[in-house]
Amino acid sequence: MLGILAALPEEITELLAEMGPTATVRRLGMRDYHVGVLRGQPCVLALTRIGKVAAAATTAMLLHEFRVRAVVFTGVAGGIHEQVQVGDVVIGDTLLQHDLDARPLFARYEVPMLGRTHFSTEAALTELLAHCAEDFLSAYAHGRAVAPAVRRGPIATGDCFVGDLATLTRLRAELPDALCVEMEGAAVAQVCHEFGVPCAVLRTVSDRADNSATVDFRRFLQEVASVYSAGILRRFLQALPPPAN
Ligand code: SAH
Repeated sequence: MLGILAALPEEITELLAEMGPTATVRRLGMRDYHVGVLRGQPCVLALTRIGKVAAAATTAMLLHEFRVRAVVFTGVAGGIHEQVQVGDVVIGDTLLQHDLDARPLFARYEVPMLGRTHFSTEAALTELLAHCAEDFLSAYAHGRAVAPAVRRGPIATGDCFVGDLATLTRLRAELPDALCVEMEGAAVAQVCHEFGVPCAVLRTVSDRADNSATVDFRRFLQEVASVYSAGILRRFLQALPPPAN
């Protein structure tokens, strides 16, 4: 099975509807795991809720209770790299917790006792996801003035909504390569690493993590991000090789 996770309901509403009434639900730790078939792929869909603890708990349960061969996280994020615009899609290649700092015992960003700062997504899944995002966006942008871009690179995760210039400026200086900030990705990637299950992270840029970050967030989520998410994941599910058994 493929695990599909998102933090906000809007991000998986369409896929849930597509799974239809045949889907079964298992409720564990205050979360619903919807098991069914999407585009020929057996899937488990679940809402993590917002933040690293919520995301880690949901992922651990998913990997322990269901036979999941890979996890895809879909959601929105704040663009922090200068080249990243609202409406672009970011596919994570590495994820790090920008608010993790156990110095002087451990290096900055290092996950204590795990000996690493970054967690990588799986190359083939990431490649396929990027390809599907390109494909979706070129169809979506047809006839529109501005064409959104698909970017692949580092994602920074932390337990705060970044929506002020001071934090944004600090993060940009500390992590010049990071493309966007969000609140779940690195937690999902860490748990997947610990269980030895491949993962991929897809983020639609909803804001620029500055003082205007909360403006139109809801509207963007409903009108753009949920459409992107469903459009890209449908292509992804269709392109994914069928399950091996
Ligand atoms: N204002 C929103 C709160 C959403 S919290 C509301 O009214 O519901 C932000 C969610 O979107 C998190 O799941 C996070 O992963 C992502 N996100 C989007 N932009 C972000 C930003 N600028 N900083 C941190 N997380 C962001």
